[in-house]
Amino acid sequence: MRVSVIGFQGDVEEHVIALNKSANRLHLDCEILATRKADEIEESEAIVIPGGESTTISRLIFGDKISDIIIRLANEGVPVMGTCAGLILLAREGDEQVEKTDTQLLGLMDVRVKRNAFGRQRESFQTRLNIKGIGEFDAVFIRAPAITEAENGVDVLATVDEYVVAAKQDNILAFAFHPELADDTKVHEYFLRMI
Ligand code: GLN
Repeated sequence: MRVSVIGFQGDVEEHVIALNKSANRLHLDCEILATRKADEIEESEAIVIPGGESTTISRLIFGDKISDIIIRLANEGVPVMGTCAGLILLAREGDEQVEKTDTQLLGLMDVRVKRNAFGRQRESFQTRLNIKGIGEFDAVFIRAPAITEAENGVDVLATVDEYVVAAKQDNILAFAFHPELADDTKVHEYFLRMI
């Protein structure tokens, strides 16, 4: 079984490490691959879109038509997890910052996102969340986005202030923080159990 981490830009290697640890814990025989190759991504049973710079990742995945493959697999039911910038890319709608930068989104989750939602004072912070279905988690936020509107089919898993920071819609999973930077693999284990 192959899990692909979309490897154009961002914290790709950290996700590979966290997924390997999680697969070991769950006794799953998984090949975890950091890849940007269409034929490798086509053969995936699960896909991770990492954090990084949403404008850059968007340009690269849409430029290479990797976007079409991710959308097709997601529609076929393949689990897709997006973290931080990855959450932005999963959304159907972005805020004015997303629009101003002409960032194309995958539109896989019926949510509206706000880039850099926590402002300058709280650019980076860590907080303990209680994530529905996952449990207590020390979440690291770095210039994090947030979900500001979610349609009925979206299951809200965690919030900070008025913002949704973790959500699930069928096989699509989104986190505003960086689970791959925590010393805890609960989030990645939850994701692998969705396969
Ligand atoms: N602020 C970044 C963006 O909008 C996301 C930050 C991150 O992924 N750490 O693309």
